[in-house]
This record gives sequence, C-alpha cells and structure tokens, in this order.
Amino acid sequence: MIFSLIIPCYNEEGNIRPMFDEVRRVFDSGDFEYELIFVNDGSSDATAKEIKKLIKEGGAKVVMLDFSRNFGKEAAIFAGLEHCKGDFAAIIDGDLQQPPEVALKMLEILREKPDCDCVCAYQEKRIEKSFTSFLKRGFYKIINNLAEVNFVSDASDFRVMRRNMVDAILSMHECVRFSKGIFAWVGFHTEFIPYKARERNAGQTKWSMRSLFRYAFDGIVSFSASILKIPGWLSLMSFIAAIVFLIVRLCRGDFNEVSVAIFVTLLMSGVVLFGVSIACVYLNRSYSESKRRPIYILREKDKN
Ligand code: UDP
Ligand code: MG
Repeated sequence: MIFSLIIPCYNEEGNIRPMFDEVRRVFDSGDFEYELIFVNDGSSDATAKEIKKLIKEGGAKVVMLDFSRNFGKEAAIFAGLEHCKGDFAAIIDGDLQQPPEVALKMLEILREKPDCDCVCAYQEKRIEKSFTSFLKRGFYKIINNLAEVNFVSDASDFRVMRRNMVDAILSMHECVRFSKGIFAWVGFHTEFIPYKARERNAGQTKWSMRSLFRYAFDGIVSFSASILKIPGWLSLMSFIAAIVFLIVRLCRGDFNEVSVAIFVTLLMSGVVLFGVSIACVYLNRSYSESKRRPIYILREKDKN
C-alpha cells in the first residue's frame, strides 16, 4: 500500500524541514510505503531549495512539483493529485497547522472501513478571528441555499481519500477549481472527524479578506446557476410593477402622460430583461457543458 501526502507550499521556507521531520516521526513506523509530494506554488523564498535538500538527503520518498509561478492552492492540490501514486492520498497544509497524526488517524479509519472513501477533518474550534468565522458561517448558509450540492460547513481540504475518489476529482476538468465544491460534487462516502488546528509554525497566512471574498464568489459561480437567474427575476418584478402601477393609477383615475411613460418604461424593462434571461438559460447550459464534468461517477462495479 502506498500513501501520498500532498503538501501545497507557497513561501513556506521555514516550514519545509519541520514538516518533513514531523511526517517522518509519524509515518516511519507504519506498515506501508509513503511519499511526500511538495508542490512549490511559485514561492519567492527558499522553499524550493529546502525541498531539494530533502530530496538529496533521502530517508523518505520526496517529490517536488515546482510551479513556474504562483497558480494558487487549488492548482497545487490538483497537480499533487495528478502526480501522486498512492492508493490513499492526503491533502495537508505545509505550515504544520494540520497535524500529521490526524492524517494517520484518517488513514487508519479508511483502512478499517472499506465502505468509507474519504475522511475529512474539521476544526473543532476555529482559531481564526471571530469576524472571519462569522463570514465563513454566512458563506456556507448562502452557498447551501444556492448550490446544487450540499457543502458541509467547516469541512476543510485536510482529508484522506481512496484512489477511486482521487480519480473522480481528476475527472473534473474545470480550470477555476473550488475544492470544497468538487469534493461535494463527486460524492462518495465521507466521514468527518474533529481536530484541533495548531498555530502556524512559521511565516504568515496567504489569505487576505479580499482573496477570501474572491474565493467565496468563485465557489458560488462554479456550483450554482443562481446569478444567471437574476435577470429572470428582475424581468418578473418589472412586469408585476408595471401591472400594479397600471391598476393603481386607473383606480385613482389619474392615468396621465407621465403615467403612460412610467408604465411603458416598466413594461419595456420587463421585455428586455426577459430577453436577457432567455440568453442566460443558454449561457448557463453552455457554461455547464464547458466544464466537461463527468456524466456520472461510479463508486464501484460489482459482478459475479
Ligand atoms: N498555499 C499555496 N498557494 C497559495 C496560497 C497558499 O500553495 O497561493 C498553501 C500554503 O503554503 C499552505 C496552505 O496552502 O501550505 C494553506 O495556506 P495558509 O496557511 O496561508 O491558509 P490558512 O491556514 O491561513 O487558511
Ligand atoms: Mg495555514
């Protein structure tokens, strides 16, 4: 059995060696082979140098995927999954906030339970600022109302998956990737376990409020067609407003030239928005097709 640990790294020079030591301490005594896949996501510090040192040193199998520039954590996860050889694969941050012991625990659960395809760790108690936590809770509420799949709040990308799930994720070809949605979309039997996140070992978080908002917006656009439904709703509202306006003015008996202008404007807005909403139906269809998602995903095929 091979276990792959995929570690996205962006300016983590101070964390590479401690991460490697920690992983070795936890996994060296296991009854299986493991590989560390460090994805250097265009770091401008000595991250690549540190990883190369580990490759030279040996002791554990280390692979470095060195990006030509910063493509983002989602791209790093995809690259790691694409290059991993494991029967099981873990995604784990390179800053030691997510303890490798928890990854081992998740792997053990998967090995014990053949019916389970993925174990995902969620933070028992968030260590981030309460405002950020509040925004994240709000985001999950919104996206769960809008999206076609259910997003488990707090479910991170810190998880261990079986090969069948890794292959399913790789069959999702979209370029703007939103892992939380992809994990939910591909399905499979997932178990959730709590864990306590540590403080970052070295360096700083790469997420700003702006990038978190952009990421949340990407998630909503990728997994819900609700935004494209807005012109349809606006069109309906315009028609209703036009009719209500007409009735009120006629009842009051003051349907003058100004009223005609307002009525015609509301009516025409409704007509134009209706046209836009029809275009949006086709746009949504072609957007869905362009993502080339699989038509179905098999969990298993059984026969006698
Ligand atoms: N990361 C990455 N590319 C990026 C941003 C982050 O590979 O563009 C990595 C980063 O090096 C870390 C992980 O993703 O290993 C999580 O990032 P971070 O610790 O900044 O996020 P936080 O824990 O604050 O949510
Ligand atoms: Mg972190």
